[in-house]
This record gives sequence, structure tokens and C-alpha cells, in this order.
Amino acid sequence: MRIELPQLPYAASALEPWISARTVNTHHGRHHRAYVDKVKALVGDNAETLEAVILRTAGDAARQVLFNNAAQAWNHAFYWQCLRPKSGPPPPAYEKWAAALKEAALGHFGSGWAWLVRHGTQLKVITTANADTPMVHGLEPLLVIDVWEHAYYLDYQERRAAYVTGVVDNLLNWELAECLTT
Ligand code: MN
Repeated sequence: MRIELPQLPYAASALEPWISARTVNTHHGRHHRAYVDKVKALVGDNAETLEAVILRTAGDAARQVLFNNAAQAWNHAFYWQCLRPKSGPPPPAYEKWAAALKEAALGHFGSGWAWLVRHGTQLKVITTANADTPMVHGLEPLLVIDVWEHAYYLDYQERRAAYVTGVVDNLLNWELAECLTT
């Protein structure tokens, strides 16, 4: 992935009524952009991919700021891809994963991400805190839900459950999981 702000694959209003255009514009145009801009400012002009920056800075306390911003830039680009307007409910084969994602997203304390990942041939649901991202743990991400408050506060205030339910039941692009696991 290049170090840049990717265009949204749909209109900002396309995720309504579950995620408003106001939230998408703020989240993509300000939060996501800020992470990308910070990475660019720190690495300067070079041809590195975002993944390369993440992997070379993971666990390096001296490069924590770069890691955090690079991982957040990657996580957000992936998040937008995981949402699909009017996706509808999860396919029957994925209902248990949908339930597990909801539980994980609700149970995660503070800022972070709830993921469906592939570990070898197994699917797993995990959460990561703050900017942490599955690739540094040898896991392949298939789907993600952003559970930082900025992902839902404008629409739902503190009601994370309403946001998570709206996303899992209506907006997740389950084809990303299906095409990688069949
Ligand atoms: Mn976010």
C-alpha cells in the first residue's frame, strides 16, 4: 500500500443510516488524513510501502510515533475497504463470526480495533489496542471494525453497541472473508 490517503470506494453518504456522511468525512478527511500526513512528514520522500514502514518500526520504542501513525494509516485504509454500502446481514456461514466480532468490539476497553483474521487455516476474532495491527503478529486481516470513539461518537455518542451492531448487521463486506477462505 502506498503512503497516501486512499479515495473512499463509495460516496461519504453511502453508509447511512448506520454511519453518517458527517462521520465519514471527519473520519476519512481529518483523522485518516492526519495519520497519513504524519507518516509522510516522518519518512520523507521514498518509495517504501506502508507495510514496510509498519514492519520495520514495530516494537521499536524509538520509532513508536512512526509506527503508530503508519499502522493507523494502514488500519483505516483497510477499514474503508471492509465496509460496503447496503451489504446486508452476514451470510449464514459467517453468523458465528459476526456474533464473535460484536462481542469482541463491545468488550474491547478503550481505543482499538476488532478483527476477523486468518491464522494459518484458522479464522479467529481478535482485538488490538490503539494502533496495533495484525500483520505484526503474523495474522492476516480479513475484516475490521474501528472501535475508536471517533468512528462513532458523532452518530451514537458513547453507544458503541449501536454502532457495532449497525456495522456488523449491515455494512461488513463478507466477500473479503469468503474469497480468502475458500
Ligand atoms: Mn478511526
